[in-house]
Amino acid sequence: MTKTQNTPAAQTATCTECGRILRSEASITRGTGPVCAARKTAATALSTAFKDPETAATKALQVIADKAIVRTRTQGQYLVVASHGDQSYLTDVEEGSCTCKAGARHGRCSHLLAANIIEITATRRTAIYALAA
Ligand SMILES: [Zn+2]
Ligand SMILES: [Zn+2]
Repeated sequence: MTKTQNTPAAQTATCTECGRILRSEASITRGTGPVCAARKTAATALSTAFKDPETAATKALQVIADKAIVRTRTQGQYLVVASHGDQSYLTDVEEGSCTCKAGARHGRCSHLLAANIIEITATRRTAIYALAA
């Protein structure tokens, strides 16, 4: 579906997070698509317990953007590949645990945050949308 627009002002706006083409007026104004906006909102809401919430939220969103986190067959359980790629961690949203150092020590880490963001935006998308509005 390619539509050529002749108006010089009509430019293709893309999501600043994932690079997808934005279609709705609201998304273009915001600069992010609905899923990325919901993830950002979730990241901000969930990272408040961290010592550095902004860094934690950014890290978690990066993990998702890198597709370094995958759902396992077990409900609420995710496998996260570490940034250097030679190690992976098991993150459990329901138990609130992660096998990485920070997760084991503090019970919170960017992996667990990423997994929670995915859970929330996948299962309660409408709620998050309402929250983001
Ligand atoms: Zn996006
Ligand atoms: Zn972790």
